[in-house]
Amino acid sequence: MVRYVQDFAEGGREQADLLGGKGANLAEMTRIGLPVPPGFTVTTEACRAYLATGAEPEGLAQEVAGHLAALERAAGRRLGDPDDPLLLSVRSGARYSMPGMMETILDIGLNDASVHGLARTSGHEDFAWDSYRRLIQMFGATVMGIDGALFAEALARRPDPGQRRLLVEDFRRIVRERTGEEFPQDPAEQLRRSVRAVFSSWNTERARVYRRREHIPEDLGTAVNVQTMVFGNAGPDSGTGVAFTRDPATGLQGVYGDYLADAQGEDVVAGIRNTVPLAELETIDKKSYDQLMRIMETLENHYRDLCDIEFTIERGRLWMLQTRVGKRTAEAAFRIAAQLADEGTIGWDEALDRVSGEQLARLMFPSFDTAGAGEPLARGVPASPGAAFGAVVFDSAEAARRAAAGEKVVLVRGETTPDDLPGMVAAQAVLTSRGGKTSHAAVVARGMGRVCVCGAEAVEIDAAARRFTVGGTVVAEGETVSVDGSAGAVHLGELPLVGSPVMRYFETGERLPGVVDAVARLMEHADATRRMGVRANADTPEDAARARRFGARGIGLCRTEHMFLGERRRLVEAMILAEDDAGREKALAALLPPQREDFTAMLEAMDGLPVTIRLLDPPLHEFLPDHTELAVRVASAEAAGGEPDPHDVRLLSAVERMHEHNPMLGLRGVRLGLVVPGLIALQVRAVGEAVARRLRDGGDPRAEIMVPLVDTSDELRLVREEVDAVLAEVSRETGVEVTCPVGTMIELPRAALTADRIAAEADFFSLGTNDLTQTTWGLSRDDVEASFFSAYLERGILRDSPFETLDRQGVGRLVRIAVEEGRAARPGLKVGVCGEHGGDPDSVHFFHQAGLDYVSCSPFRVPVARLEAARAALVPGRARSATA
Ligand code: PEP
Ligand code: MG
Repeated sequence: MVRYVQDFAEGGREQADLLGGKGANLAEMTRIGLPVPPGFTVTTEACRAYLATGAEPEGLAQEVAGHLAALERAAGRRLGDPDDPLLLSVRSGARYSMPGMMETILDIGLNDASVHGLARTSGHEDFAWDSYRRLIQMFGATVMGIDGALFAEALARRPDPGQRRLLVEDFRRIVRERTGEEFPQDPAEQLRRSVRAVFSSWNTERARVYRRREHIPEDLGTAVNVQTMVFGNAGPDSGTGVAFTRDPATGLQGVYGDYLADAQGEDVVAGIRNTVPLAELETIDKKSYDQLMRIMETLENHYRDLCDIEFTIERGRLWMLQTRVGKRTAEAAFRIAAQLADEGTIGWDEALDRVSGEQLARLMFPSFDTAGAGEPLARGVPASPGAAFGAVVFDSAEAARRAAAGEKVVLVRGETTPDDLPGMVAAQAVLTSRGGKTSHAAVVARGMGRVCVCGAEAVEIDAAARRFTVGGTVVAEGETVSVDGSAGAVHLGELPLVGSPVMRYFETGERLPGVVDAVARLMEHADATRRMGVRANADTPEDAARARRFGARGIGLCRTEHMFLGERRRLVEAMILAEDDAGREKALAALLPPQREDFTAMLEAMDGLPVTIRLLDPPLHEFLPDHTELAVRVASAEAAGGEPDPHDVRLLSAVERMHEHNPMLGLRGVRLGLVVPGLIALQVRAVGEAVARRLRDGGDPRAEIMVPLVDTSDELRLVREEVDAVLAEVSRETGVEVTCPVGTMIELPRAALTADRIAAEADFFSLGTNDLTQTTWGLSRDDVEASFFSAYLERGILRDSPFETLDRQGVGRLVRIAVEEGRAARPGLKVGVCGEHGGDPDSVHFFHQAGLDYVSCSPFRVPVARLEAARAALVPGRARSATA
């Protein structure tokens, strides 16, 4: 029989799929003997069943009743007992943390009778009525769907704590008026409906938006944690706080957190009242503080990682409400991983497993040059690092509207709530005037990699007037500010940016202590760990040299068409317009020297390493002026009664002759080489002469010739014959023996499906996953992103763009076929990839699994690819046991 409910004492952290992250960690803390208020978890499986059918799965009600009875027996109190009520909290907790996205209901079990019992047992009349009004407020908004603002307004009308009893009357009236129903008095009904509401909160709009952005699967569902209430708001000897075992921004060890006396956890996370630094707890309640420090050490040792925790002190007694391996900034991730490996807490393999290419990419972004900036306009908490500027906006809708129009915006709020999520997604940075490092804004911004400064108290927001003031300075909506999330500062206007020290390390090798050193050591371990090689896509000697500094071991794709731009476009034009063989040969001869110089410089920059030079790929019309532009020029000359420029007339007729309806499927790639006489010979001669020159100069040139857009082995065979003939000629002329491997792109489905035949003619394969994606999906990569992609992402048809992250099911299948069948026909065939996916972390893992020899990506992504190739090579399970 399926069990849908599990006591905290029964589970452990390995059950996160079933119990959600929060439930699994509550169970783990219970298991290791930490003080956790007793409770039980309703599993994600129950939630999935509920969401699928709209009804509670059979047996759930009885199981909940059974666990509740056990809880009551252990506590010696009954839920909602009028004399001494047991009260419960009901909280969501999915597999992956979705901060503030789903629902929480506190104080379940209070009603008109038990509120008196709570008043008597606690000795605090106001506290009891305040707890009751919280329950009605949370239950009303979450379970009964009443607009939360109505409660907030009623609360604002009776701010005096002595008026809580009257406030309960007000709240109950709101419930009655809005729903035609009395606030339910039966504690069991309160519990049942709360659990259901938490299940349903999985599907709220804001939860869906969050999941899409964080790539969390839609079908996981949430667990529900039902737990004995402990009260941080039971007087001055009570309180609640959040803490990290290390600084989540830098990774440094110390006491980091916020504490709020006489308050419940919700008050801290919402950032509504200002907290005190956790260190002050030592003077407020030394016993609890010391115990907390010991628990934090226990947790770090147990989880062997930075943990974040939520705790409550109820009348001098400490309770742990949550822990998890904490979110952290990219900088902290690298520093903590290296520190833990240095301490011997984890091994270096596991350290690699703890960082990601995405984090590394973030560290390579620039920051502000504040040298000439003067004093910032305001300071706050450096909640999420990085540098960003944009136009000030005051609400989520405006942020989304302006961002959609291409504007950079900074969202400025008192504090944020989950409803601000779309605005936070749209904004470059978030600035709040209230709240600390653990406020909603801070937690969510860090998770998304958004720049964030919180608690900038000097910022006085007048949202109605759409402006904020700091002292005498008024900043209106639309004005630009620069937000420095690393320093916690806000500047007026747009500050200049400077490169990151991590980027400088890759550029120059300058190895500063701190984050740069951590990155350097992890990269060294990555290079020693990965199986796949990493090359770069580069078309200029400068890019080649940079790629080499960034750790590329060769060039996987040199797009030679990029060598025909600018001034040289005219030379291609002359070739296209040539009217006879002699004219064409003359034009081609003019292209030879610049091509040869390019290749020589590239081979020099990558001396000793492979340089894969691809023959011309794009349709030739791309080298000619735009049709409309030419037509207008010719027509207006004629309309003015004059003679149009004869060159324009010839160009226009060439453009018209070459027009294709689907140029990406037309005369391009290998097809060009086979129909334009002399084109292959020109390019191969340039390569051959460059190789000969480098050899004569004592270099070690390793040119490889690559043929694009091959469909059949016959195409490749014909090109190969020509290449061999030209290289033999060059060898004869120069007296230097020149040979080059000849390989092919695999970028059409037919090529992948006939890889065995093509392999017979190819020295290597390079997967062109850009074209392969385009042709497998039948999507034009240049058009779809602007037209319907966002709708597809919105509707969940696509989770990622297949042009960014390789589609494993479809394109990936072709990749596997190409690798397996190519190698079956030609054992040891070298296979790489040079599409954009070569620098995408998820895709890199796939290429490792598919057995590729190397990935090739743009120079700036080379470090990311090196790191991810190593992470892909970590043997699952071994990383963890590699602990010293
Ligand atoms: C590809 O198609 O994946 C590729 C690398 O070639 P290009 O992007 O130049 O078409
Ligand atoms: Mg291509």
